[in-house]
Amino acid sequence: MEVLQRHHTEGRDVRLIVTDVQMPQMDGLSLAENIRRQSAFSTIPIILISSSVQQGEPSRCRALGHSAYLSKPVQPSELFDAMLDMLSIKKPAAQTKAMRTAEATSARKRAMKILLAEDNAVNRKLAKTLLEKHGYTVVNAENGREALEVLGREQIDLILMDMQMPVMDGFEAMRAIRESERDSGKHIRIVALTAHAMKGDRARCLEAGADDYVTKPIRTTELLAALDRSEAGAPVGEVAAGSASAAPGAILDVQRALQRLDGDSELLEELATLFADEGVKNIRDIHEAFAAADAKLLERLAHTVKGASANIGAASLSHAALVLEELARSGDLTNAAEKIAALERELARLLPAIKSLARKTADGVRS
Ligand code: MN
Repeated sequence: MEVLQRHHTEGRDVRLIVTDVQMPQMDGLSLAENIRRQSAFSTIPIILISSSVQQGEPSRCRALGHSAYLSKPVQPSELFDAMLDMLSIKKPAAQTKAMRTAEATSARKRAMKILLAEDNAVNRKLAKTLLEKHGYTVVNAENGREALEVLGREQIDLILMDMQMPVMDGFEAMRAIRESERDSGKHIRIVALTAHAMKGDRARCLEAGADDYVTKPIRTTELLAALDRSEAGAPVGEVAAGSASAAPGAILDVQRALQRLDGDSELLEELATLFADEGVKNIRDIHEAFAAADAKLLERLAHTVKGASANIGAASLSHAALVLEELARSGDLTNAAEKIAALERELARLLPAIKSLARKTADGVRS
């Protein structure tokens, strides 16, 4: 229980529990029942292994849901099958042998450990949640330097690299990685995360060493398609142009945002709430950057707001941020005060919409 709690508070949720039934102090079934009582752990798959099938154990196990009951001695293949069943997204209906094989392959592929280098908290949360939902393991880094540190100490299968980051950006980090690979002869797959608005970004990413790229705002289907291409070792795919950009002028286009998030309204609410906190902080930083006449910083902050707001379907705020970003990039801050004021107005319009979205979701859960 302690290990589970600690991992949960640290944001590294356990994906599967395998436990012996006969254990001192708290036996496996009581442990499983305790785990199920906590809503955060209500759906973690649990595999129970028993050395002597006791009366009532199989039915107590069934009552847990998302669980399997195996008796010792357990064959490796039996345990493996149970794990596949537990971890598979599909319901364990009657399956053909071909389906099972396909699932096994997919489960192996999905044991992939992804390093996500992204400075924006909303984007990080979004990508991490989506990837974990699809069975990937995700390690976070908030800038290029952190990403290099992670690579130095952990075995990583693929990197999702944001290009615009503070301290060390994605271009610099990718060059450093490719440089070091010249000696080792290895090649880690890197998928660049780029802002759609920046023309030439794609070419620059590939030139700097990316194998593939995904444009922001992040869409589930595009991200997963890029990972499938990676698993297949396939070349860069075509990106559907502007397929799901929010309707211009919308304060909060919930429908479009949900389309990008697999229809996960709880995730949208979480992102929106996270965005509301970050957004207020971003505006404060934007004022400071403007006061310091730091056009570079202003550009980066505006860029962050643009991307994060697009993720939650806040099209008009995203547009206001784009205008400020472009102005800051030009280096001429003459009209910046006006653009910052416009950005603030949009954020002020958005915050109540986010609040009512959170209320709606809460109502939905209650009813
Ligand atoms: Mn960024």
